[in-house]
Amino acid sequence: MRPATVVVAAGRPTAVPDAPLNAPVHFASALAAGGPVGYAREDQQNSAALEQALGRLEGGEAVVFASGMAAISAVLDVCAPGSVAAPPVAYSGSRAVLRSRVDRTGLRLEHPRDAHAWRLAGQQCDLLWLESPTNPDLQIIDLAAVCVGAAAVTVVDNTFATPLAQRPLELGADIVVHSVSKFLSGHSDLILGAVVTKDPGMAARFRRHRGLYGAIPGPMESWLALRGLRTLDVRLRRASDNAAILADRLSRHPDVAETIWPGLPDHPGHEVAERQMALQCPVICFRPRGGPDAAEAVCTRTALWRHATSLGGVESTLERRRKWPMESDLVPADLIRLSVGIEDVEDLWEDLVTALEGR
Ligand SMILES: *Cc1c(COP(=O)(O)O)cnc(C)c1O
Repeated sequence: MRPATVVVAAGRPTAVPDAPLNAPVHFASALAAGGPVGYAREDQQNSAALEQALGRLEGGEAVVFASGMAAISAVLDVCAPGSVAAPPVAYSGSRAVLRSRVDRTGLRLEHPRDAHAWRLAGQQCDLLWLESPTNPDLQIIDLAAVCVGAAAVTVVDNTFATPLAQRPLELGADIVVHSVSKFLSGHSDLILGAVVTKDPGMAARFRRHRGLYGAIPGPMESWLALRGLRTLDVRLRRASDNAAILADRLSRHPDVAETIWPGLPDHPGHEVAERQMALQCPVICFRPRGGPDAAEAVCTRTALWRHATSLGGVESTLERRRKWPMESDLVPADLIRLSVGIEDVEDLWEDLVTALEGR
């Protein structure tokens, strides 16, 4: 089955007469004795159905967690690296967790800046933490070039691309992590994370970690995430098409100093992104003329675009990333991150231009 079919068909209950097509929500903690599970902190029917779908999409075994950050922390606990290489800019939560381990456990952390430095880190570090495109600045890393032949454990945060655009395990990565809270669930209504790996022993260790530390998602969240996943292909395609139009128009607007989108031919990672991704990600960054205050004003002036953090929902959102103290100071203070939704692109453009031109 192709990915657009997998998102619809995977993780459904067996077809028996008059059974529902979709699994009901199984609200349960205690389970009758004698089975392989015993207690719902260990495993849970709704999370298992979501794991089937995510595992098939990424080409491995998925273990879901109560949040993307719980999944990321589980990877660092289970792999217990003494040294990690991570991009100079990556998701602020991942950077904060890595930095806290530098302080607490003496983890050695380095930030490769080009392909050569990444290849070197692949031989010298215990673990490579990879993100492509990076959050928020949309830099592209050639995943196959870094992962194939690396001695380190290679981990890819695939939240921005989703498995419909990019399958890191096929590009040589050992582990994929997701914030399912974003595009995969797609409606800005839940927090959930996932780890996927081809190595069954590793998957079992993630499962044991989850049972022990208690980060299994609730049944309602897993059910909603699987329901959201059903429309991933149509949502992502529509949002990506919208993003292509908006990025092109922003890049030619006189009030915009810079537009960053890997789908644009002048992006430094454009060639790799075109080769590595089946679809361009519906996140765009741009810097309006007039500095951080002007950028903040744009965010507060939109009506249709919601001024909000997070991304990946059907509704379009925007924010100036540096308003958060946790964001890297390598991110320009006037950079606005757009999460493009599935609305009519002309309404999105009109609203954005009105905010940009200050009317
Ligand atoms: C949001 C996000 C996370 C964290 O996920 P949560 O579900 O919010 O815990 C991790 N990585 C990336 C790239 C993200 O955008």
